[in-house]
Parts: sequence; structure tokens; C-alpha cells
Amino acid sequence: MQSIGYGAHRADAPLQSLRFERRTPGPHDVHIDILYCGVCHSDLHTARNEWGNTVYPVVPGHEIVGRVAAVGDQVSRFKPGDIAGVGCMVDSCQHCSSCAEGLEQYCENGFVGTYNGEEMHSGGMTYGGYANNIVVNEKFVLRIPANLDPAAAAPLLCAGITTYSPLRHWKVGKGQKVGIVGLGGLGHMGIKLAHAMGAHTVLFTTSPDKREDARRLGADEVVVSRNAGEMAAHANSFDFILNTVAARHDLDAFMVLLKRDGTMTLVGAPAEPHPSPQVFNLIMKRRHLAGSLIGGIAETQEMLDFCGEHDIVSDIEMIPIQQINTAYERMLKSDVRYRFVIDMASLQNET
Ligand code: NAP
Ligand code: ZN
Repeated sequence: MQSIGYGAHRADAPLQSLRFERRTPGPHDVHIDILYCGVCHSDLHTARNEWGNTVYPVVPGHEIVGRVAAVGDQVSRFKPGDIAGVGCMVDSCQHCSSCAEGLEQYCENGFVGTYNGEEMHSGGMTYGGYANNIVVNEKFVLRIPANLDPAAAAPLLCAGITTYSPLRHWKVGKGQKVGIVGLGGLGHMGIKLAHAMGAHTVLFTTSPDKREDARRLGADEVVVSRNAGEMAAHANSFDFILNTVAARHDLDAFMVLLKRDGTMTLVGAPAEPHPSPQVFNLIMKRRHLAGSLIGGIAETQEMLDFCGEHDIVSDIEMIPIQQINTAYERMLKSDVRYRFVIDMASLQNET
């Protein structure tokens, strides 16, 4: 199937308009005309080959909301006209132990990413949501609650589930003190979700001018992480810290804020490794340092339904696709309030 979108041909080239082929929709596939696609920092890491695994040309985008245009014979959960979502995965083996537990993101045979992934059945590469359409097996298509604005719901498909999954896994809730590190796309969803789960929520930021916004989003306290005095006041006090920072930084500054048996989970995936944390900061209080990858399909639907119930969406700045390269530069300066979303109607200006 013919598609038009924006992608990169080289690590050091800006994204530009390009045409490409997707697989012909099969009996289990949903053909979605894309309305909106969020801009995740992972898109930038991949477009610039910062993780060293990019196959060019790459069309990023894994926070996709669109309208179903057609469905295959065997599709039962979607019909033309439905609003549907696609997140970071479009396939997995479906028979390993992780898939059997609904943890497709940890598929023992490797899940297929929405972009820069190898198609499991038809060969070739996958291309993401900075495009007019996409073809996805119905098992990997999500329902968007009707009360949520579809553009502002798009970032839930990655930023939402990537923060929801660890908050649930480490059982965040009432009576707990929870830290969110970094107020970007993931971080602002982390605040909203931790707050909705009832935790006392503290934002750590390097940007003092985000203080007011953080409180509006649901933070009970805001700490400027470059201020040693403010940090020291929270020593040994956190049950859980979710670290969303997209750049190399000192993890010890946060480890020492955990109380006994506390956990810090890393979801930020910087290109440069962090300096190794001090072992004694783990040993002395039996603290944990952990990681977490997006979330399974069932949990992604659970998160969307939770957001529907609590009226939670992303705070977005809508851009035409022609502004994607400027948006990337602003993201690198932590100048996003708090997720860019591409309005795919702007693709109509491309020939
Ligand atoms: P983002 O919107 O750019 O937000 C990152 C935030 O980190 C910034 O807004 C900034 O917040 C803070 N930050 C940036 N540079 C910093 C530095 N040098 N020191 C300290 N803080 C810094 O990015 P995002 O889309 O939320 O993604 C965050 C990271 O998560 C990326 O690496 C992305 O690839 C990764 N990711 C992982 C998963 C997963 O499954 N694990 C899924 C999606 C994304 P302040 O201004 O508040 O300091
Ligand atoms: Zn993402």
C-alpha cells in the first residue's frame, strides 16, 4: 500500500517528505488513516541513530491515533469509521512465555517496533506514524475512550503507558511518596498518573520555570534537582522514583533520596551511559535500581480506560508536520509543553 510521510535518510539529515510502501492489508489487519501522531524523544534518538540500530530510511512515530478506513475479513473488534490507536509495537511472536502473560514488550523472540522494526511475516521494515496511514494486526490496535480528545490522547500510546506500567508494577498508591524525574513528555504523564493513583507526587526538574506547570499537572512538591539544598531535604524519604531523563546524569543524587527498600526505575534511554551508581547507596538501605519498557497491549488498554475514567490526556502543542525538525531542536532544549503532536492534515500540503 502506498504511503506518504516524513522520515530521515541519514543520521545527520533533517526529516523530509517521502513516499514508501506498506504491506498489503491481510485478513487480520486494520488499515488506519492517521489523524494525529505524538513526537517522542525515542523518535529523535532513532532518527539520529543515537542507539546505533537505525535502518534508513526511517519514518518515526509511535503515538498514533486515526480513523479505521478498512478491516480484513477476520477482524472482529474494529470497523470502518472507528477511532483507533497504535503504540510502540505492531507484532510479537504470540507464543513465548512473555507473550503468554500479555507482556509482548518483553517477547522472548523480540517484539516488532512500530518503526525501525523487522516485519515478522512479510519481511521488510516497519514505518511509523509520521504518515498518512498504517496497517496493523488488530491484536495491536487499541480503543480510545470516546470522552478523550483524540489529538491529546495520542501521547498516551507511548508516554502514557511507559509511565503507567512501572507505577502499577511497583504498586504506587495512596500513602506513598513518589518522585518523577524530568518534566517532558513522559514526566508530565507520570505526574498526572501518579497523582490520579493517589500518591504524594514530587517532581524533580532542571528547569525552575516549570514549577507552576508541575503543580497544575498534579505535583504536590517541586524540587530543582541542581539545587543541593533542596535535594538534601528529601534524603531517605521516597518509596518510588520514576526517572524519565533523556540524557546522561548522576543517578546517585536520586538513589540517596529513596528510603529503605525503595526503588528507582529508569525509563529514560539516553545514548550515553550513566556513570555507575555507588554500590553502597544500594547496599546500605536494600534499595533497588530497575528499568521498564513501555507496557503490554492489555495493560495499554487498561491505561487508556483508566485515563478515560479520570479524564487524563496529554498537554499538547499541535504542529504541522513541516515543523518536525524545529520541534526536535526544541525537545533537545527541554522546551516542550509537554508533548508535540503532529496534525496529519498538514500532510495534504505535500505532493
Ligand atoms: P522529553 O520530552 O525530551 O523529556 C525529557 C526531560 O528530561 C526533559 O524535559 C528534561 O526535563 C529532562 N532532561 C533533559 N536533559 C536533561 C539533563 N541533561 N539532565 C537532567 N534532566 C534532563 O523526552 P521523553 O519523550 O519524555 O522521553 C524521555 C526518555 O525516555 C527518552 O530517552 C526516550 O527515548 C525514553 N523512552 C523510554 C521508553 C521506555 O519504554 N523505557 C519509552 C518512551 C521513551 P526538565 O526540564 O524537567 O529537567
Ligand atoms: Zn515513545
